[in-house]
Amino acid sequence: AGMVTSSSGAVSDFWSDWMRTIGATERVFEIIGSEPQPQASQQPADAVVLRGELAFRDVGFVYPERPEKLALDHVSFAIAAGENVALVGASGAGKSTIASMILGFYQPGSGSIAFDGVPAGQLDLAGVRAHIAIVEQEPSLFSGSIFENIAFALPDREVTREEVVDAARLANAHDFIEGFPHGYDTVVGERGVQLSGGQKQRIAIARAVLRDPKILILDEATSALDSASEQQVQQALDTLMAGRTTIVIAHRYSTIVKADRVLVLEHGAVVQSGPHAQLIEQRDGVYFHLMKSQLQFSA
Ligand code: ADP
Ligand code: MG
Repeated sequence: AGMVTSSSGAVSDFWSDWMRTIGATERVFEIIGSEPQPQASQQPADAVVLRGELAFRDVGFVYPERPEKLALDHVSFAIAAGENVALVGASGAGKSTIASMILGFYQPGSGSIAFDGVPAGQLDLAGVRAHIAIVEQEPSLFSGSIFENIAFALPDREVTREEVVDAARLANAHDFIEGFPHGYDTVVGERGVQLSGGQKQRIAIARAVLRDPKILILDEATSALDSASEQQVQQALDTLMAGRTTIVIAHRYSTIVKADRVLVLEHGAVVQSGPHAQLIEQRDGVYFHLMKSQLQFSA
């Protein structure tokens, strides 16, 4: 069987986009040997100021690698600045695709995405991304100190120790970091200290705090942490989410119930939208059946 390759170089583009989004420096690009792609832009990056409104307008999308399948099918929704929306749906429903499109990794095949009512195509992509942070399901840290791993959030300027410590405090990470003999200079990653899942998540949250985004994307972990760690992570996330537009790819009952609104996806389409209490009343709805069968009840 032949190897499937993409003519568009999607993998390396994805990687450099990704590094930029999570806050890579030019230096890191040199190390990994990949150049940031120049963006054709209407505005300079630092001219993009966002309030945090986000809208999908009739977005359709097909992955080039899978032309026979509509990954997103006429997806429309509007999220107000500061609103907390949970995305739910079975595996393959399109949740991660929506997250990738918010980050500009893929452009809509049809329809459009708008930030504060301005179509994304008219905004500088790097400028938009500077206002977005993502906390992944299983955050990856690079080999380096804890300080460097947190400061990585802001590649364009010098970050002070005080800023990193403040972010770590808000992320409930300061105490465990100070518990290491080398504190913030502790080296993590392959050759360093192995952190637990909950500790890695709190480092990732500290990164996002430091970035101070208008729009936050959370990909909620499916595997449960031990309950003490869980509580610390949840508290840190609550602090991070306050006052920001948040889109949570949600797997937990407790997260879904407290969201302002739930968007239910099925086969790439939004099939229901509303607060949990309203959706759960619709006994023949996709949401009711998802809650019964798919989701973890770890509340
Ligand atoms: P979810 O995050 O809800 O599990 P995804 O957004 O990952 O769903 O996937 C939506 C659809 O797009 C699925 O049918 C999935 O198989 C497909 N898909 C996701 N990523 C790719 C990709 N990189 N290439 C081709 N198809 C993909
Ligand atoms: Mg996914």
